[in-house]
Amino acid sequence: MISAGQTEEAAPRPGINLSPQASSFLLRDTPRTRRFQELLAPELSTSERLEALAAKAHRLTLQHFGRAMRLFAPLYLSNECINNCKYCGFSRDNPILRVTLTPEDVEAEARHLVAEGFRHILLVAGEHPKFISNGYLQEVIARLHRFVPSLSLEVGPMEEEEYRPLVSAGAEGLVVYQETYNRKAYSEMHTAGPKRDFDWRLACPERGARAGFRRIGIGTLLGLAPWREEAIALARHTDYLLRRAWRAHLTISLPRLRPAAGGFAPPDPVADRDFVHLVCALRIAFPEVGLVLSTRESPRLREMLIPLGVTMMSAGSHTEPGGYTGAGQDDLHLTVKGRRVEFIDKPPCTTATGQFEIADERSAADIATLLQSKGYDPVWKDWDQALGKGSANCF
Ligand code: SF4
Repeated sequence: MISAGQTEEAAPRPGINLSPQASSFLLRDTPRTRRFQELLAPELSTSERLEALAAKAHRLTLQHFGRAMRLFAPLYLSNECINNCKYCGFSRDNPILRVTLTPEDVEAEARHLVAEGFRHILLVAGEHPKFISNGYLQEVIARLHRFVPSLSLEVGPMEEEEYRPLVSAGAEGLVVYQETYNRKAYSEMHTAGPKRDFDWRLACPERGARAGFRRIGIGTLLGLAPWREEAIALARHTDYLLRRAWRAHLTISLPRLRPAAGGFAPPDPVADRDFVHLVCALRIAFPEVGLVLSTRESPRLREMLIPLGVTMMSAGSHTEPGGYTGAGQDDLHLTVKGRRVEFIDKPPCTTATGQFEIADERSAADIATLLQSKGYDPVWKDWDQALGKGSANCF
């Protein structure tokens, strides 16, 4: 008999396909992760049984989160990157239009989002220490922190000590998707750059929590490996972080791969029915964890998922730097082997290339109206900074 919180070693299950060198928590089950695996059983994906799961997920969501739906917007700072990730439009070998916004440009974008109602902004950038240095990030965060109450980062993984000044400057959330927990797929998808180091990335959420981020977001990019395998590894990572980084609020994102520059086709696409099954199983097994849904999903599916466990949605998103205001358009260039290459004539397009195509193009106001029509409260800010003071150490 195992009580809640205890762990026991479990033999790797068939189909998990993780190497023996995988960080031990990815091979370890607890009563919670075992329960999660039962919820993923293919027999539960019939219409009737899926409806029963959905009803339970809905009840638990109301119980833990009420009818609040937190809204946020991504703000892309830069599409420069030193990595090659086969699925991403920003990969370094893609001949795309690149730009890194100046802090002034970023402020213009942020003020636009604030005027739309957002109080929670996710700052996103590719990984390129030359263009997106720590000093740059610190300056941007400090500048925005004056008028944006809630700032999160989705940037290249860093050391704990590198995160601390960013937390001090006003960043409260850190988002790091493992992309895939399958080492073989990870190695095949990440063909160049520091991102090839699976374990460095895997340990990043913990480093972030130790550095003082109040909110930690993890996730898997659905489509890179069989979804049940990914889900089980994600659940084990979640369960581990709930115990190791218990002071940070944990969220899970489930981005499904979308068309992007480079024309990548996902090897293991995830069907809508399986996606719904996964959302319900996560909500039931981890009722206290936030679930994030991006504009990668279609309007129809996003509406269907609202009552089933999603607690946070992006809206009106752009995935190209300068996408909200046109900032940075006068600085478009190519980057070849880390060096800027200017256009002799005009660039072939007036905007920087986006990371991927979005599927739900409705504005933030449209999403807020929709939520209200369904009896939900759109919440534009999800953290009261006063509550965060004096609790930097999350361990
Ligand atoms: S997924 Fe991230 S690290 Fe990989 S190419 Fe895109 S921006 Fe760079």
